[in-house]
Amino acid sequence: MILNLLQKNKKKKAKKPSADKKRPRATIPAVIGGLRVKPSARAHYLNLRLDARTSEIVLTWPLRRRVSLSKAERFIAENREWIARQQRDLPKARVFAPGSKLRVAGREYVIEHAPGRGITRFEGGRLIVHGGREHLPRRVRDFLKQEALRIMKALADEKAEMLGLRSSEVRILDPKTRWGSCGPDGKIMFSWRLILAPPEVMDYLVAHEVAHRIHMNHSNRFWKLCGQLTENVADCRRWLHENGKELMVWN
Ligand SMILES: [Zn+2]
Repeated sequence: MILNLLQKNKKKKAKKPSADKKRPRATIPAVIGGLRVKPSARAHYLNLRLDARTSEIVLTWPLRRRVSLSKAERFIAENREWIARQQRDLPKARVFAPGSKLRVAGREYVIEHAPGRGITRFEGGRLIVHGGREHLPRRVRDFLKQEALRIMKALADEKAEMLGLRSSEVRILDPKTRWGSCGPDGKIMFSWRLILAPPEVMDYLVAHEVAHRIHMNHSNRFWKLCGQLTENVADCRRWLHENGKELMVWN
């Protein structure tokens, strides 16, 4: 979900930062040219990226390089056009409201607010939400988290069984920078927002994290195994890269 502007930076081989190369953080401003500055021990170059979650452009400041303020300002100036384009194309933040159209696990629903008490539920093409209007966004979110857990837990169990593994503990969270993760203990976490993605993308993410129970890396063997657990790995990765930010607009 983090969009790297300067892909070429990735190709450079990582060097271990030595202590004497560390720059004092005090000299790094928090904001330059209206952009938030993020000091990074891992980065090799000045880099601009769009934080899809907060919808702001962030300047990564490499701690292992000697970077002057004027160099940073020049870098921003050189990329003004890109920054403007990103800001113009940002999807606007949205709040769940009556009438909002949602695609949940590939099916379209319209949110409907109903008076009185009752459980949140799908009814035909509607997502019915009871209770006070002010609680509606939270109730929709809670319902979608519950649905995400139900669907992705079932998928994770299915895929674990394909590999002859015991079922995983699955949790649903709302992380900023990843769609899922798998711990060394085999516990798996997913973003609830994946339920707003096409079902095959959700399936891919589950396959990805379950495959990490065998290979805790992104080696060729990992991707091969991942491909055995789901279809269209490449298409789903591309979908997330291109459309992932749309999943983050909901608050
Ligand atoms: Zn991974």
